[in-house]
Amino acid sequence: MNKICIVTGGSSGIGLAIVKSFIHNGYTVYNLDIQPSTFGHFIECDMSKVEQVQQAIIGVANQEKQVDVLISNAGIHRSANIENTSEELLDEVFAINVKGAYAATKAIIPLMKKQGMGSIIYIASDQAIIGKSNSFAYNLSKHALASMAKTTALDYASFNIRANAICPGTIETPLYHTAIDKYCANSGANKTDIHAEEAALQPLNRLGQPEEVAEYALFLASDKATFITGSLQVIDGGYTTG
Ligand code: NAD
Repeated sequence: MNKICIVTGGSSGIGLAIVKSFIHNGYTVYNLDIQPSTFGHFIECDMSKVEQVQQAIIGVANQEKQVDVLISNAGIHRSANIENTSEELLDEVFAINVKGAYAATKAIIPLMKKQGMGSIIYIASDQAIIGKSNSFAYNLSKHALASMAKTTALDYASFNIRANAICPGTIETPLYHTAIDKYCANSGANKTDIHAEEAALQPLNRLGQPEEVAEYALFLASDKATFITGSLQVIDGGYTTG
């Protein structure tokens, strides 16, 4: 039977690689994003708006009658320590990274309970495990996602619903490039040098690629991962072991 997957933030970077890879592996994929995309079934949806998320997910559920996989991937990064984190900035990051994931999970659970199975995957970060300077709100939001994976796993294990978080290290996506560009603009640093320095920080001496994260998601969603739930899956070139 055709499998159905909902991806949030599937128009760019890791989300786009996930959309492409799931389609390639026979899934019908719905992409909830604010940025249009020609891959998968695009549904315009702002993840910071709970009602929009509910509407989009319930729409897919009603149409397909079954949703096998939810991948909560949409996220934003903002650089600031706590002193430079205004209430507005904290709310902005939490609204997308945390509340969006909450809304998507809450909307899909009733159908997954009814069908007696489901795999929910949160794209968290290595910052769900370790700290990173000048990344206060983002760091908190990713720790919250790790917690969401664990509590959802426990609350719904009896319905055969699995919930896991993937914790990528530095992955070369538009989000990464935007962050580096901003840093270079503010500090006057050279982008090529900073890029090389970032790569050198990773034990494997390179940055990750979105497709490598997509492969991991594909595995976690599949029948090869039926005993994995509540876990934090690190994919970071060895960064967090150091
Ligand atoms: P990206 O910026 O390339 O893609 C993010 C996608 O989310 C975009 O398509 C964007 O339009 C969408 N999005 C943003 N705000 C949205 C909103 N309000 N509603 C709906 N969609 C929205 O970023 P990426 O690097 O691919 O990041 C994807 C996820 O992976 C994020 O949660 C990010 O925190 C996480 N992550 C990224 C890295 C990295 O190094 N790139 C590392 C660890 C974790």
